[in-house]
Amino acid sequence: MMNVPATAHVDLAAISHNVGVLREKAAGAEVMAIVKADGYGHGIIQAARAALAGGASRLGVATLAEALTVRRAGVDAPLLCWLHGAGEPFDEAVAADVDLAASSVHVVEDIAAAAARAGRTARLHLKIDTGLSRAGATLEDWPSVVDAALRAQAEGCVQVVGIWSHMACADEPGHPSIAAQLRTFDEAVEFAEKAGVRPEVRHIANSAATLTIPEARYDLVRPGIAVYGLSPIPSHPASDGREDHNFGLRPAMTLTGRLIVTKRVAPGTGVSYGHRYTTDRETTLGVVPLGYADGIPRGGTNLLEVWAAGRRRRIAGTVCMDQFVIDVGDDEIHAGDQVILFGPGDRGEPTAQDWADLLGTISYEIVTRIGARVPRAYEGSPA
Ligand SMILES: *Cc1c(COP(=O)(O)O)cnc(C)c1O
Repeated sequence: MMNVPATAHVDLAAISHNVGVLREKAAGAEVMAIVKADGYGHGIIQAARAALAGGASRLGVATLAEALTVRRAGVDAPLLCWLHGAGEPFDEAVAADVDLAASSVHVVEDIAAAAARAGRTARLHLKIDTGLSRAGATLEDWPSVVDAALRAQAEGCVQVVGIWSHMACADEPGHPSIAAQLRTFDEAVEFAEKAGVRPEVRHIANSAATLTIPEARYDLVRPGIAVYGLSPIPSHPASDGREDHNFGLRPAMTLTGRLIVTKRVAPGTGVSYGHRYTTDRETTLGVVPLGYADGIPRGGTNLLEVWAAGRRRRIAGTVCMDQFVIDVGDDEIHAGDQVILFGPGDRGEPTAQDWADLLGTISYEIVTRIGARVPRAYEGSPA
């Protein structure tokens, strides 16, 4: 029997479905599916294609390297890349027709210079910091950034196609920063438009804002986590009966492993490094071949649950680099049996959100950290 020890199954139909849900919520605004961090762990190219099939019209990534990965795979949809400083190698991205963010005069000038060398026009999205205090020009610096961009545009090196920002607390409905950021955004857009900028798209909404803040949608929304079927607001209540607490999204990733060893052991048997778990009766142990190198948090020691032999089972003892142990009592398990670590939850298995709740983190961290060693298996054709 050929058993792959561990697999992250990715349901591409779920990704397409989720983009459909987001499109409906976006109510006419374009959907830019965010596929940074290897598509939140789901696979950047497969996620990109499934999102486009589901109705996304653009893609977004953080780094220049990610943008080039998308282009080299032959995906030619409009693509925005935003995480770079001055002095970075923009030439290849400009040549590959990647939209580039700019928050400073230096970056505008470097991108314009790269475009001039390539004999092309670079597409710029100017970023205003409306209150997250990460990248983005401050309101004070905004006029000089707009001015630099318009000068480069007059020279034919760049075209300002977007004005954008990013929200700090969109996942906390009613947070006062939400209205304050939107006001600042409106002010920045108005200033730029008066100065002569004619953006194709104004955008600020992440998943949480797309799903819950209609006035944040503008011309385009930039959902990430919701594309993968995980809720940006896990505490969100079912509202109108049509919408479950997960906004109708379907988790796309199911992580499974096959038991490589099972064994009967005596009461009082210490399990895994440090013997942080000791059996309290004669029992059956099973070894799951996934560990913290694969993204199973070591903090999940004696804490996280997985689905095995028809029930949830807590991890018994320390999560090791490559494996962990479960204790199934007198239930029957065999080497080769499949364990579901997390998934959509339909079969009773934990969800990535359940793991996040126990660990005091967010589902984003669970799925993006599933390591490169875990093979991805793609299922379900995109819509
Ligand atoms: C990651 C990211 C997003 C997507 O955020 P989600 O909360 O996953 O929807 C959108 N825009 C920017 C700039 C980001 O960094």
